[in-house]
Amino acid sequence: MSKIIAIANQKGGVGKTTTSVNLGAGLASIGKKVLLIDIDPQGNTTSGVGVNKADVANCIYDVLINEVNPQEATLPTEIEGLHIIPATIQLAGAEIELVPTISREVRLKKSLQQVKHLYDYILIDCPPSLGILTINSLTAADSVLIPIQCEYYALEGLSQLLNTVRLVQKHLNTSLQIEGVLLTMFDARTNLGIQVIEEVKKYFQQKVYKTVIPRNVRLSEAPSHGQSIITYDPKSKGAEVYLELAKEVVSYE
Ligand code: ADP
Ligand code: MG
Repeated sequence: MSKIIAIANQKGGVGKTTTSVNLGAGLASIGKKVLLIDIDPQGNTTSGVGVNKADVANCIYDVLINEVNPQEATLPTEIEGLHIIPATIQLAGAEIELVPTISREVRLKKSLQQVKHLYDYILIDCPPSLGILTINSLTAADSVLIPIQCEYYALEGLSQLLNTVRLVQKHLNTSLQIEGVLLTMFDARTNLGIQVIEEVKKYFQQKVYKTVIPRNVRLSEAPSHGQSIITYDPKSKGAEVYLELAKEVVSYE
């Protein structure tokens, strides 16, 4: 069984990239074969797993625009079982270059059909927008995982995201599911965090993961070392919770 999960929220800074890298690393560390796809032109997942963008020969841009075989764009990481198709700044042009192309929304889906059988999980780190790159991701995916930061206005903008999900379900990918909603950057010292959790649970009910990701400084340090939390500080709270999330994700299969 192989599953493609898009990690999406058009808000920036909610933990999409942190979750892609560390859930990916967590799944790999419990023996799953995982492919990360960085489809954000900022390329933070790419650098977050230690790939030097200057050395990248083929990136996701080449897969989408030049129809390069995804296997030719796939790189290993320091974690066994965790591979990545990187993004470089070249991808910034893709939004515009895709506009006049045929079947522009299904390009990623078609490409991934060539490699899906090689992995247990394919995680797509989406950009902070609802543009054509996110649409490609939702069209290619079996499900969408939505990270929500535990802060004021946590639910703001979510109706737009859910509306986009519904449009994709209607026109492009009828089997797209909501994989789960992940609460991130929780701060147990404030009442606000607890209020947000209650609000999000009221809205999404059983779709909310039991695992809540707390604020953890080690999680914010790891990317500058080009490492997931699992290798950067395996004893940290951050490593513990992302491993727990990986097990929870697997338990719903
Ligand atoms: P997005 O991809 O949605 O824009 P990121 O994953 O890049 O969000 O997270 C935004 C910032 O917050 C980054 O600097 C990241 O290191 C930091 N961050 C994310 N999750 C946590 C966490 N649980 N604890 C502390 N810092 C975090
Ligand atoms: Mg990001």
